[in-house]
Amino acid sequence: MNKEKIIAVLSKTDDPVLNTDFVTLDFVRNISLNGNNLSLKLGVSDNADESVSKISDKLKSELKKSIPEIESVNIDFVTGFTSHKDPKKMSIMPGIKNTIAVASGKGGVGKSTIAVNLAVALSKLGAKVGLIDADIYGPSIPLMFGINKKPGVMKIGEKNMLVPLEKFGVKIMSIGFLIENDSAVVWRGPMASSALKQFIGDVVWDELDFLLFDMPPGTGDIQLTLSQTIPLTGAIIVTTPQEISLSDAKKGYIMFERVNVPTIGIIENMSYFNNPDGSREYIFGKEGGKKMSEEYNVKLLGEIPINTKIRIGGDKGIPVAAEDEKSETAGIFYSIAAETVKEINKMNIASSKKQNLEIEI
Ligand code: ADP
Repeated sequence: MNKEKIIAVLSKTDDPVLNTDFVTLDFVRNISLNGNNLSLKLGVSDNADESVSKISDKLKSELKKSIPEIESVNIDFVTGFTSHKDPKKMSIMPGIKNTIAVASGKGGVGKSTIAVNLAVALSKLGAKVGLIDADIYGPSIPLMFGINKKPGVMKIGEKNMLVPLEKFGVKIMSIGFLIENDSAVVWRGPMASSALKQFIGDVVWDELDFLLFDMPPGTGDIQLTLSQTIPLTGAIIVTTPQEISLSDAKKGYIMFERVNVPTIGIIENMSYFNNPDGSREYIFGKEGGKKMSEEYNVKLLGEIPINTKIRIGGDKGIPVAAEDEKSETAGIFYSIAAETVKEINKMNIASSKKQNLEIEI
C-alpha cells in the first residue's frame, strides 16, 4: 500500500475549524493496514462539530478513489492539539505545547476550582496536562486534588529535578509544596518568580499538550512579574457576573495585553443557581461575562452554575470533572475544555501563519 498516497489525500483535506490540512497540522496520529482495510486515527479541532462526519465521508471516498485496492476505511477522530511555534518559548519549555494562565482580577471567584476542573477535563479529552499552582496567597491545588504528599526528586545528570505528583490524569506542582506554614503572604514578586522559574525548568514534565498555571488573584506587581516570567501561550480570565468582579477581570485582560499575552477567553463562574423547580436564579447578576466577551471581542468559553457538587468536589479533593463524568456539571467543564482547545488551536495557527508571512516578506 502506498502510504504517500494516503498522506497526499490527507494533505488535501482541511480541519473544518482551522482551515488547514491534517498533515500540516500534524494531526495524523496513526495509519494502519490490515489486508486492504485501512484504519486512520486523526485529530480534529472540534470532535463534536457536525462537519466531522462530512469530512469523514469525503476522506473515505477520496482514499478509495486514489487507492482503488482499498476495501474499507475506518477513521477514528480524536481531539487534536496544536503547539505554539514561538521559538523563544520553545527554548524555555521544550516539549510543552501550550501554557495557559488561569487568572482572575479578584479572589474568591472560583479561579482555582476552574483551573483544577479544566485540567481534569482537558485530560479526559486525551491531552497530556500539567498544572502549576502559582497562587502564593492561597495555594489550594493540593487540597482540591486530595494530595498531601511532597513531590519526589530525581537526579538527571548532575541536576536534581522535581517529579510532579499525578492525579486524575494531571501532573501537579504547587507552591504549597515549598511552604511549611502560612508564610505565603509575605512573598514578594522576585521570590514567587524564582519559584516559578524552578517549576518550569527543574521539573520532569516530559511532554505536555497543556501546562496550566493557577495564578494569584489580582493585577498587581506580583501578577505582572509572573505573567512576564512564564512563557505564556495565553490567559483565561475567570469572573463572576457581578460588576465588581467584572471590572477587576477587565483589569486582568489589560494586564495581559500589556505583556503581550493574548486572552484565550473568559469563563463566567457562579452564573446562576438551578432552583429545585427548574427555574434559574441569577444570584450575582446575569450575563456579565457575555457582555465583557462582546466588549473585548474574546470568546466566552462557558458559564458555570453555583452548585453544591462543585464546592464539595473541591473540599474533598475529587474534582467534579473527575468524579461524576456523566453529570451535567462535569459536561459543562468538558465543553469548556473543548472550547479552550479550539480557541488555542485557532490562535496557534493564526500566529504561525503570521510568522510564515513575515518570513516570506
Ligand atoms: P479563587 O481561586 O478564585 O480564590 P476558589 O476556587 O478557591 O476561588 O473558590 C472559592 C470557594 O468557592 C471555594 O470554596 C469553592 O469550592 C467555591 N466555589 C467555586 N466555584 C463554585 C461553584 N461554581 N459552585 C459552588 N461553589 C464554588
